[in-house]
This record gives sequence, C-alpha cells and structure tokens, in this order.
Amino acid sequence: MKMELTYYPYELKLRHAFTVSSYSRATTPGVQLKIKWENVEGYGEAAMPPYLGETVESVTSFLSRVNLNQFNDPFKLEEILAYVDAVETGNTAAKAAIDIALHDLVGKLLHAPWYKLWGLDKETTPFTTYTIGIDTREKLQEKVLEVADRFRILKVKLGSGRDKEIVKAIREVSDLPLAVDANQGWKDKYEALDMINWLQEQGVVMIEQPIPKEQWEDIGWITSRTSLPVYADESVQRVKDIAKLQGIFTGINIKLMKCTGMREAMKMITVARTLGMQVMLYLISKLTQSNLNFIIWN
Ligand code: MG
Repeated sequence: MKMELTYYPYELKLRHAFTVSSYSRATTPGVQLKIKWENVEGYGEAAMPPYLGETVESVTSFLSRVNLNQFNDPFKLEEILAYVDAVETGNTAAKAAIDIALHDLVGKLLHAPWYKLWGLDKETTPFTTYTIGIDTREKLQEKVLEVADRFRILKVKLGSGRDKEIVKAIREVSDLPLAVDANQGWKDKYEALDMINWLQEQGVVMIEQPIPKEQWEDIGWITSRTSLPVYADESVQRVKDIAKLQGIFTGINIKLMKCTGMREAMKMITVARTLGMQVMLYLISKLTQSNLNFIIWN
C-alpha cells in the first residue's frame, strides 16, 4: 500500500493583532496536510509567521515536489523524513507538516499517543505560557485579564522602546510570573543587562533573545552576569546549531516550524540536555486559537 499526501491552505485569524519588536499581524497563514495509508489518516499543519520566511506558495510548491508514493511503510520515519529533508534546503514549516502528519499516522496505527511511545509522563508536563504581544496600555491589560486565571505564567514581548511602561501596565493587573522575549530588540549588552536587572525586580523569570542573534560574545557576557536563564530563539534553528551556543545561552527555544518537526525536536532536546542546556518548546497551531503558546521544559 502506497502513502497518499493531500493538503490545502488555511488562514488562522487571531483574536487580537499580534505585535513584536519587528512586525505586527492579525492572521497566520497555514497549510493543513493529510497522509493516508491503508485507510488510516494522519494530520499535520504548517503555520507560517512572517519571520520564518515561508508562505502558502513556498509550502505548497515544496509539497508538490515531495513524492510519498515511493514509500509503502510509514513506520520507516527516519528514511522517509531524511528523503523529505533532502528534497530542498529550507522549507522547514512544510517539512514539519509532513513530520507531524507521519507521527500522527504512526500513533494511530499503533493506537498510542507519542508521549507514551517516547516513554514520557504527561502528568509532569510543564506549564504553558500565554504570549502577550506589544500593545497599548489598555489593550495589554485587557489581554492579561482575559487569560490570567487560565495560565500560571505569561510571556511578554518587549524590545519596542516602551518596555518599562509595558511591564508596569501588566503588573497593575497581574502578579503572575513573566517570561520576556526581546526578539533581538535591545540595543546593546549594557542596555540589555540594565533592563534584565530591572525586569528581575518585577518578577520576570526568564529572558529570550535579548540582542541580535550573531552577537555571540555580547550574549555570553549578558548570560554570565544575570541569574535569570537566557534562551536562544533567533540564534538557533536546527540540531546542528546547538553546540556553538553552549556557554553563551542557558537554553534554547525549539519550534517545530523552524526545526522540521517532532523527530528533529526530540534530537534537539537530547543534544541540549547533553550539553547541560535547558529547553523550551514552542507550538503554533490553529488549536491555540488566538495567540502563541509555548511550554517551558527546563
Ligand atoms: Mg522568541
């Protein structure tokens, strides 16, 4: 029996416009995908926030060049995904959609979810954060109040030049612990460290991508001067990028859409932990409805 691949575009409309230090958007373009084998269907999804550099066109054009018909055994995940990865460099969201559908298919065929197949305990799943994008004071407070009783930690986007105003506005309505993502928006290491020290006094518990991704030395300088964990996001994409970050960042942000999916994400977790680094996992999906959630693993 051959595997059959089908897909269609899907636009995710966000409940609130989502703004970070470099862009703003009200929708996330996506592609839904299905792999069928022996009348069982596995589902996957490519979500394309603008920083990934992928579009519905780039994803569908990549998928049109993938021939899964040549495989007749979906359990050969390594072989199939190595082929998919080699079709073209880049296109990580399209590759992730295939990876996710294939894992879904295999899980259904084995009648087991992947946390069981991987030997994990779902009772020990860490807390998920809810991301608050950059906004006006009123809108920020409205968004926080909307979700504050459903989350134990919030993630705040900074790096806009209004950082203290934003954090103070949130603190007026919530005392939840905050994770902070500067999206490379702080000017230099001195500004970043001053801000981090102030943020720590406001109940911030972690920092993500404080300054531009290639400023390795300065990022290491910052990390060595704060007790807060400093996570790489823009500085890390796939498993090959992790080793050079050891000693520079405390941990890495793993995103299925930038790393090609579940299989590579699991390899990244193993490599990061072997190097003594922490990990967090980030998911974008229509299932998250309005905003972008991630899970801190530590
Ligand atoms: Mg980030």
